[in-house]
Amino acid sequence: MKAYDVAAIRAQFPILTRPWEPPLIYLDNAASTQQPACVIEAVADYHRGQHANIHRAVHRLSQTATLLYEQARERVARFINAQEPAECIFTRGTTESINLVAASWGRANLKPGDEILLSTLEHHSNIVPWQMVAEATGAHIRVISIDDSGELDLDAFRRLLSKRTRILAITQVSNALGTVNPVAELIAEAHAAGALVLIDGAQWVAHGPTDVQALDADFYVFSGHKLYGPTGIGVLYGKRRWLESMSPYQGGGDMIERVSFEQTLYADLPNRFEAGTPHIAGAIGLGVAIDWLSGIGFAAISAHEEGLVGAAVTRLAEVPGLVIQGRPRQRAGVVSWVMVDPPIATLDIGAALDLRGICIRTGHHCCQPLMDRLGISSTARASFALYNQLAEVEALAAALQEIREKAI
Ligand code: PLP
Repeated sequence: MKAYDVAAIRAQFPILTRPWEPPLIYLDNAASTQQPACVIEAVADYHRGQHANIHRAVHRLSQTATLLYEQARERVARFINAQEPAECIFTRGTTESINLVAASWGRANLKPGDEILLSTLEHHSNIVPWQMVAEATGAHIRVISIDDSGELDLDAFRRLLSKRTRILAITQVSNALGTVNPVAELIAEAHAAGALVLIDGAQWVAHGPTDVQALDADFYVFSGHKLYGPTGIGVLYGKRRWLESMSPYQGGGDMIERVSFEQTLYADLPNRFEAGTPHIAGAIGLGVAIDWLSGIGFAAISAHEEGLVGAAVTRLAEVPGLVIQGRPRQRAGVVSWVMVDPPIATLDIGAALDLRGICIRTGHHCCQPLMDRLGISSTARASFALYNQLAEVEALAAALQEIREKAI
């Protein structure tokens, strides 16, 4: 394979190599990425020949399934440079990971007058769990505003940061605008003010390297299905000292050391946060996806994707009447726009593109507060992955030109 052979990468994705009519141009990767054959096969192999419940039996199938599940955790830990696999909790995804921290850490540590710092760029899954815990504890939510380019207002961040701030929960990349936040800087400043930090890495992990120790993140969360892995599996990374101080989020089997009707002793990390039978196949698939991605390497992936996103911004800006939403200096994976002249509803843009084989996402992207800030109710969004090609960017721009011309 030459330096970055996009054709060879595409060939590994069964869904991309099917004979679609019209040809499939998949630009909805921020919602979910497709899965390479190695992930699909690993999940199928598990179901075909390795399936059993984990941690519970001495028989060979259970032993194998347990080994594969725990190896997946080790792969996750290596991928984000956690100090140890036990700091990586398998969850259903980013949403559950945030809910776990908000419920478990939040309810025990927040009190009336405390502040939770979020930003205008957050996905609803990094807003609503905090609202729920704020309501339960009397804590307040404060919101870091953005400027007109879609970047965080760092002065506002510094003004809002105070001794009352107990936690900063913020996305690394905006799923609606593509803005990359300076998370290392935010974490350092939040720590200096005495706050913990949760980073929503859902839109970052597939686009660049993650080192939770270098970042010094207290919590870092992401989903498997945006990382070339299966749905229904995700990760909560937490520093051991915080996870150990937290009560379990759910109770049940596999998260206990000893149960009696009088008292239950919880298991050590990571099991105490994994009540019940987990998504074993999903974890195995995620581990394979992570290794596969690491084999390609983020240096090559970022260079390729930056080329795609840069070309998309340039080519879409040339479509008359199209207004790109947000002009951040650093952007990962996403370009959002509206058509104002003539005005075309984003839903109609999505449907017209679908007729041409192009899959994008339209709507508020689970970011209604951000849409309110932008003064719109929805955008059309193209989002890119390592298998997309420049020809697909050209096809998108040409289709948008054509849709506009038909609407005039
Ligand atoms: N956070 C961000 C930034 C996202 O883009 C998403 C999904 O789009 C989520 C959180 C929620 O992820 P999930 O639905 O996998 O829990």
